[in-house]
Amino acid sequence: MVSIMEKQTLWLKSATALEPLPSKRGDPVLVIGAGLIGRLLASTLASQGHPVRIVDTAAGAAAGGGAAWVAAAMLAPLAESIATETNVVAQGYYALARWPQLLSSLPQPVFFQQQGTLILWHRQDAGEAQRFMDLLARVQNRLQELPAPQPLNSQSLAELEPALAGRFSQGLYLPQEGQLDNRQLLAALLANLREHGVEVEWNCPLDYETAHRWQERSGGWVLDCRGLGAQKEWRWGGPLRGVRGEVIRLYAPEVSLQRPTRLLHPRYPIYIAPKQDHLFVIGATEIETEDLSPVSVRSVLELLSAAYVVHSGFAEARILELNSQCRPTLPDNLPAVVEVAPRFLQINGLYRHGFMISPAIHDAVLEYIHQGCNSLAKQLGLAFETANSSNSVHGSVQVSP
Ligand SMILES: Cc1cc2nc3c(=O)[nH]c(=O)nc-3n(C[C@H](O)[C@H](O)[C@H](O)COP(=O)(O)OP(=O)(O)OC[C@H]3O[C@@H](n4cnc5c(N)ncnc54)[C@H](O)[C@@H]3O)c2cc1C
Repeated sequence: MVSIMEKQTLWLKSATALEPLPSKRGDPVLVIGAGLIGRLLASTLASQGHPVRIVDTAAGAAAGGGAAWVAAAMLAPLAESIATETNVVAQGYYALARWPQLLSSLPQPVFFQQQGTLILWHRQDAGEAQRFMDLLARVQNRLQELPAPQPLNSQSLAELEPALAGRFSQGLYLPQEGQLDNRQLLAALLANLREHGVEVEWNCPLDYETAHRWQERSGGWVLDCRGLGAQKEWRWGGPLRGVRGEVIRLYAPEVSLQRPTRLLHPRYPIYIAPKQDHLFVIGATEIETEDLSPVSVRSVLELLSAAYVVHSGFAEARILELNSQCRPTLPDNLPAVVEVAPRFLQINGLYRHGFMISPAIHDAVLEYIHQGCNSLAKQLGLAFETANSSNSVHGSVQVSP
């Protein structure tokens, strides 16, 4: 059996093989949407020598980014495996190995960390923890090469995360998981675009008719990466919907957590993602609504109470920001790439896993643009509907050979 680590090495080799073919270098590209996947693709394509045009309806860099700006940007395929499909878990492991390569090519540093995830619960919520561990065990049964979760007692927990010494008597450590700083990433991608002479055209509502006319004139590629903004034009596999999430950004100099920490709780499950310099992102509710109004009092009370229970040092934290956004989500909660007309791709449905999987989608799209095939999408079970339907991928991935 090929382990997930060996697979990552093979994937990395194939990622290096995704260099553009010389004949294709230089095709112009129009990217609609400068959030996560649009900015990532535009940045690489510009570095590879393509003339890139990128537009967004947001007012400017400070307002732009959609869900990507608000997200906690945890890279946690094992923790998420209990709530998603095998394909997405495989895409997550591929992406964990790819992020350091992608970040090293950017002109500004981006905080990236791979120190695992910590799962905690209170004694009275042992039932909740058992349910979580049963779900994980079921996933492990299906995907035996996933890294095994490690049970913690109060001593091993204190060694791993000294700031929590004496606060919890048990926990679970999920090795290899990571996180990055989403806002540093968005800024670094903009800086890379600028270095290659590309400025995002902010405040630019560009409709499909205009995009098709641009394509007729230029013979280039159009990549629709508008997230939830693509709702009206999304036709494949059912409607695109928004799933609301709320997060709080805190400055907490008295708290020194080293890795993303999730608290299992029947009513207030939360995560705490520690970024650099005592900045913490605490979230996140998941509500089936497209309501983009400000964060509710109930959510603030629940998120902050739960954070205070994890570490009392949060009492003296300063609230830097309360924010809400909607995750772009397809009916099956899985991502998809659809070629609606030759060389016109819609890329969407990244849901709550955009950071966790976007390098996989990025590489699959680039393989299609440069080499006209989608073998990586097949390998990773990414739905990829091409204009030439014999090339389409719907199958599910086998992480085990
Ligand atoms: C609260 C919250 C927490 C999250 N936490 C995590 C996490 O921990 N880990 C993880 O992996 N993922 C997380 N996510 C999910 C992640 O943020 C998304 O999956 C990802 O941002 C989706 O990327 P995208 O590029 O498709 O869309 P977006 O990032 O939303 O970008 C879409 C862009 O398109 C622009 N746009 C919209 N309409 C138009 C138009 N008509 N014309 C031009 N431009 C347009 C928008 O302004 C925006 O800039 C979280 C999301 C939320 C909301």
